[in-house]
Amino acid sequence: MGKTFNFGAGPAKIPEAVMEKAQKEFLNYNGTTGISVLEMSHRSSDFGNIVSSTKKLLRDEMQIPGNYEILLLHGGGTGQFAGIPLNLRAFSKNSESPTADYAVTGSWSNGAAKEAEKYLTVKKVFDAKAPFLGAPIGNTWKRDPDAAYLYYCSNETIHGVEFPHAPETLPDIPLVADVSSNVLSRNFDFTNHGVVFCGTQKNLGAAGLTIAIVREDLIGKHHPFTPAILSYDEMHKNNSLFNTPSTYSIYLTHLVLEWIRDIGGVKKLEELNAQKSQLLYETIDNSGNFFVNNVQKDFRSRMNIPFHVGSVEGKPELEAEFLKKATAAGMIGLKGHRSVGGIRASIYNSVTMEETQKLVDFMKFFQSSHS
Ligand code: PMP
Repeated sequence: MGKTFNFGAGPAKIPEAVMEKAQKEFLNYNGTTGISVLEMSHRSSDFGNIVSSTKKLLRDEMQIPGNYEILLLHGGGTGQFAGIPLNLRAFSKNSESPTADYAVTGSWSNGAAKEAEKYLTVKKVFDAKAPFLGAPIGNTWKRDPDAAYLYYCSNETIHGVEFPHAPETLPDIPLVADVSSNVLSRNFDFTNHGVVFCGTQKNLGAAGLTIAIVREDLIGKHHPFTPAILSYDEMHKNNSLFNTPSTYSIYLTHLVLEWIRDIGGVKKLEELNAQKSQLLYETIDNSGNFFVNNVQKDFRSRMNIPFHVGSVEGKPELEAEFLKKATAAGMIGLKGHRSVGGIRASIYNSVTMEETQKLVDFMKFFQSSHS
């Protein structure tokens, strides 16, 4: 069997070097313990070292300021959709009926807003509505001065809409960012942020671990009904070991962070991601509308690139043929999300320039065979 090229949106490709290291020490972690990380107590000193080293590497590689705590959690991004309002609602200036602002730029921020409605009053400062093609960032947003926070999704994985930079916020109102699908893909500025969270199954390893980076002054005012595993306070007090964490996922994230450090850090990844996405968008834009990406140019994602084949809305039979031939050529994971159809190429940190070039060559060949 030839090489498989994985352009899936997540769980996604993990760098080869990470997989090889994990394989090498699968049965005997560190070559000295005689057991696998899978078999190790989360209270053991070996695992304790993995936890502290993972946090240190994340702090270094993401340049997380000292007044933020790193929490290793459960429940995925979806867990945080509830965790955020539960932990932060007390910061609304409206204590009778707490509110929070949400910028809706795609399915994930929409889902977060919907979940938050169970716990507070959600005000949508911006509601792009499907097909979610972008967002004006800034002065046109009508913000609520009482809001506990302003929520945004820095990269909408399904619609391929990415904020070029964080939105502005009002003084004293922290930003909350869902960085699930673009964490560590470029420099991240923590200014004004209260909580930055992600699942690890795209740019940071396997599914099962959720990371929340929380400004320390926002910890400790959670709603009394907050489940312990969603409470930033409980998790922080217990060094993220309140209960059994997803040990193997933490270990894999540790390996991915070492890989990021060793290849030159976020700066290097940012350069590579710019080159890869530019190559793909150029191929789309120069195809004379054979391939079409409808997202506003300033908001085009560098990680998830959705496009249609044959016309602006796409021709279903051509798209099916595209997927079939791509699969035959070893390229998988290219089917667009079931809610939007079409094609989506996810080119996370782990996807190389050569792999991106392979996809582009295939796209050009496919187009030439239909003209
Ligand atoms: N936010 C974003 C941007 C996502 O892409 C996803 C999942 N793909 C989620 C949240 C939900 O994450 P999970 O499946 O880990 O709950």
